[in-house]
This record gives sequence, C-alpha cells and structure tokens, in this order.
Amino acid sequence: KLSDRLGGVFDRLRGRGALNEQDVLLAMREVRVALLEADVALPVVKEFVDGVTQLAIGQQVLKSVAPGQQVVKIVNDALISILGGETSGLNLAVTPPAVIMMVGLQGSGKTTTTAKIAKRLKEKERKKVMMASLDVNRPAAQEQLEILGKQIDVATLPIVAGQLPVDIAKRAMQAAKLQAFDVLLLDTAGRLHVDTALMAEMKAIAEIGKPQETLLVVDSLTGQDAVNVAKNFSDEVNLTGIVLTRMDGDARGGAALSMRTVTGQPIKFAGVGEKMDALEEFNPERVAGRILGMGDVVGLVERASEIIQKDDADKLAAKMAKGQFDMDDLRSQLNQMTKMGGLGALAGMMPGMKKAKAAMAASGMDDKILLRMDAIISSMTKKERAKPELLNAKRKIRVANGSGTTVQEVNKVMKMHKEMSGAMKKIKKMGGLKGLAAMFG
Ligand code: GDP
Ligand code: MG
Repeated sequence: KLSDRLGGVFDRLRGRGALNEQDVLLAMREVRVALLEADVALPVVKEFVDGVTQLAIGQQVLKSVAPGQQVVKIVNDALISILGGETSGLNLAVTPPAVIMMVGLQGSGKTTTTAKIAKRLKEKERKKVMMASLDVNRPAAQEQLEILGKQIDVATLPIVAGQLPVDIAKRAMQAAKLQAFDVLLLDTAGRLHVDTALMAEMKAIAEIGKPQETLLVVDSLTGQDAVNVAKNFSDEVNLTGIVLTRMDGDARGGAALSMRTVTGQPIKFAGVGEKMDALEEFNPERVAGRILGMGDVVGLVERASEIIQKDDADKLAAKMAKGQFDMDDLRSQLNQMTKMGGLGALAGMMPGMKKAKAAMAASGMDDKILLRMDAIISSMTKKERAKPELLNAKRKIRVANGSGTTVQEVNKVMKMHKEMSGAMKKIKKMGGLKGLAAMFG
C-alpha cells in the first residue's frame, strides 16, 4: 500500500516544518510505483507526478497527521481534481434527434453500454430513444443490440442485411427524424487494435451522424495501450467523453487517468456489470482511491477518529476508569480495526503504529487473524470474557475446539489482551481514547 510505503519515507519528518523538495521527490517515487501498479500509462504517470511534486513542495507538515498520510492526501486530491474536472452529464440539447456515437476497441463494451445508456435516458429522462448497430464486422453484432433493445424495451433500427456502416447510419438518421426520436444511439464496430480502416469508418459515420456526443468506451483493464487507443480515437473523431467499463472487476482503474489526460475529455460513466442497469455516473473520489490502492483514503483519517469516538469510546472510557478491560472490549477493538480497513490501513495511518505493525507481522498476524481472534473470543463464556484468568488449560482446549483454532492461538489472544489492558492503562494516563483519537487529526 502506498500509505505504508510513504510511512517509511516520512517517519523521520515528524515535527519538522515543511515538506522539502528532497522528501517530496522521495515520496513521489512511491507514488510513481503505485500509479504504474494501477496501470496508469507511463507518460501520464510522469506528467502527473511532475505536477503534484510542485504542488507538494513547501506545504506545512501537519502536526496531527503522519506526513506520509499528508502526501497521500495531496496526491489523492490532485487525482480527484484531474479525474473530476468538468461536469459529466450527457449534453443532448439540440434539435432532435440528438445523436450519440459509441466508439472503441472490440470487446470494450460498446454494445452493452449503448443499451445501458439507452435504458437510462428512457427511464431517467423520459427520452424517446432509438439504437442502431453499425457493426457489420462481427457476426450477429446487430442481432445482439436488437436483443438488448427488446430486453429494455427500446426501439432498434430494423436490420437490413448487406448494408455498409455509412448506409446504415444514413438510414438510422432518417428513421430517427421521421419517427421523432429524441435520441439516436449509434453503436459502431471495433477492432482488436486501432487501425486505419477502423478510423476511416468512424470518421465517415461521424460525418453522417454529426454526433452531439461521441463516447469512447474503454475497458478499465486497458494498461499501457490506453494512451495509443485514446490518442488515435481523439485524433480522428471529435470525442466528447469517455465510458470506463468493467469497473466491477478488480482493475485498479489507472486507465481512467490515462484516458482523461490524453483526451482531455471527461469520464461520463462507469460500467459496473453486465446487467442493463449496471451503469453509474463516474465517481472521481472512488476511482482515485482505487488507483492509489487504498479504497477511500479521503475519509480514512476522519473515519478513524469518528469510529473510535462514536462507537465505543465512552463505554470504554468508563470501563478504563474502573481499571477494567475485558475480552469483550478486546473484541470491539478488533472489530474497529476491521472496520477501518484492517491492520495495514491502521498502521499506515497512525503515527507510531509502524512498530506495532512490524510486531504483529512478526508474530504472523494479518487481517484473517482478526477474524480468528473474534471467533476465539466468541467461543468463550460470558464469565470467561469478563475474567480471562479463568481460562485454564482445559477451558482453553474447549475454546480452541469451539473456534476451530489451536490452544496456541488462544494463548496469543490472551497475551494480546494482557498487553492491551496494559496499554489501556497507559492511554488512560494520557487522557483516554478521546485524547488518542484527537491525535489522528
Ligand atoms: P463491444 O464489442 O465493444 O460491443 O463489447 P460488448 O458490449 O459486446 O461487451 C463485451 C462483453 O463485456 C460482454 O460479455 C458484456 O456483457 C461485457 N461487459 C460490458 N460492460 C461490462 C461491465 O461494465 N462489466 C462487466 N463485468 N462486463 C461488461
Ligand atoms: Mg459491439
């Protein structure tokens, strides 16, 4: 994770004045790796990193947040502002029919997205929509759109065998005008790779359709090739937006940044599944978090203090005041860790957690173990949870069996409880959990 890596870079920075050039350059090396891992195209990575470096140098180091986290936030904010940019809705304010042309490589999701957008316009904007497939390359491509049209109850241009794409386009325009459709969606053919024949075809279709919107459909798994695809299409046709498909998979979404940077056009939608309503308005915050590889970083710091404060702080504080910290408390602590994104997220976030994390890693602790620990505590009786010292050898075996773990692991939980109740006593001296929460910023 980026925040882990930056934690190392910046640990020594605590308490110093401003982020200096050398530190920022060092951090940006990590950012670079994170972007490349997210499949952002190389030239785009360079441009982005250069920009953000200038932005970060000289910023004051915040006292309440780990400096690594602060840089992550600067990077994250920059990413959001680039990805977000202009407004992203479709612009269909013309004398009808407004033509939307879909372009992209084969298999990127054009046909599916065509139907998804049609459905959306019909249902959300009450538009009278027609779709036409101009794909004469792939067998049964036109039938595919027809079937989707029936499924979502949207008209499709009747199929006439043997027609060329430009002729289908002309016929579609006529039909849309004649039958007073508000919107005509043109689904075009793709190729496995960008080629001149494809580009010539797209240009010819655009000349006939004079599309109000030309949307480049891109598979979010597109890696380094994204730059080529984006450049070629945006050189040849007048792109007005991008649709990123397969965002439901585990692609980190670096293609979003590549496409946006190279075309300068807004990302208008994200495809999140094969179903007809699996289309979302593009969410720059979420995708930025994905690209940086840490989910929703934006709220991480805030969330940490929120969860601790709201959930259990008061209850825990009261118990601590009485000098009690039992297994139920330990369990609620573990649950909080899980909620905040597990050990890794916590360690990257909290100043001074690095050592604790290293210790956990050394003892073989990971996020799965949080769940096992939870199972272990659940297998204890109420009495045992309140008074862990009751757990003798026989009881430990019972707990291990009940939770599907080993006595060794039960012992680990007990040891952790002991250490944490010790730590809780210290925290109490430092002003309680609320004091600790305040340190998160
Ligand atoms: P085209 O060649 O560009 O027209 O691509 P298609 O629309 O035929 O899509 C190719 C495949 O990708 C189909 O099986 C679609 O169901 C699938 N697909 C399209 N968009 C998405 C998406 O957002 N998520 C997922 N999981 N699959 C998608
Ligand atoms: Mg298709």
